[in-house]
Amino acid sequence: MNSPKTEHQAAHELHKLDWRTWKRVIFHVDMDAFFASIEIRNNPELRGKPVIVGGPIDSRGVVSACSYETRPFGVRSGMPIRQALQRCPEAIIISGSLKQYGYDSAELMNLLSKFTPQVEPFSIDEAFLDVTGSMRLHGSPSHLAQLIKESINNKLELTCSIGVSENKIMAKMASKLDKPNGLTILDSFLYREKFGPQPVSVLWGIGKKSVVGFNKIGIQTVNDLAKTKPEILIHKLGKFGLHALALANGIDDSEVRRLDLLPDEKSISHETTFPHDSLDKAFLKRALLSLSGRVARRLRKGTFLARTVSVKVRSDSFKTITRDKTLSKPTSDPKLFMKQLAH
Ligand SMILES: [Mg+2]
Repeated sequence: MNSPKTEHQAAHELHKLDWRTWKRVIFHVDMDAFFASIEIRNNPELRGKPVIVGGPIDSRGVVSACSYETRPFGVRSGMPIRQALQRCPEAIIISGSLKQYGYDSAELMNLLSKFTPQVEPFSIDEAFLDVTGSMRLHGSPSHLAQLIKESINNKLELTCSIGVSENKIMAKMASKLDKPNGLTILDSFLYREKFGPQPVSVLWGIGKKSVVGFNKIGIQTVNDLAKTKPEILIHKLGKFGLHALALANGIDDSEVRRLDLLPDEKSISHETTFPHDSLDKAFLKRALLSLSGRVARRLRKGTFLARTVSVKVRSDSFKTITRDKTLSKPTSDPKLFMKQLAH
């Protein structure tokens, strides 16, 4: 005899996902093990082997990317190289070429912009796409997602995972659910069902220290957070509390920001979130140089020069520090930005 269905099961079975009722259709395209996959593509002898891109093999080295063959051993990006090698001694370590990855990234973004002008590159191997306007032409989100996957595969010989939803937060959370080569469509019902029972640390941008803060006020799961009164969160955590509440509920009105400039744009910025906190000066300098380079490219594209350079740093405990410096002569040279920031 069948046991009676729980309320939860019944709701799940009744639920029917209908993207046609969505205000927007947003994709988050995330390349699978990007650096490692590029190395394997360029050197087919590596195929099927545990490959780690990162280094150096000393106490400072970290894993930047690792092929899926290393995952069963518990190797993850951001992990110290030494620890990764203890877990997976056969791993092949490659120091990698940021220049090559940058080239593939540019190709990727270029390819994505053929499907919609609304492309926001979010990191070297991720982008948000607003494809609301492409639905008439392509029929359905899953059809368009398949086309994008095929085209990436044909042009770059790489795979990606795509998350599809009504907004950026839910699309971003969706893309990691079915890696590699995945396609996941979530509406807010499925989002709550999938992530609600999980610990708050599953949410995008919620680090270890934030988790401690939430636990202190009795919040363990995403559902706990989603049900907390905004007043309490503001009182305990300030503005970040509200942001976290929106994350837990999958609410996000932010737009997909096109990279090409609006004519009246007065400031240009790029930011990134590291998978882990870092005090490694060389790593931070590389990250800053890469962000400076991206800002500089956009400046040059719009034939602009910048006079004031600022840098914003946010720690895991939500503390934000900003510093700016006005240059004597406006420039679009990323090396000069770095020089100013170093002071
Ligand atoms: Mg990726």
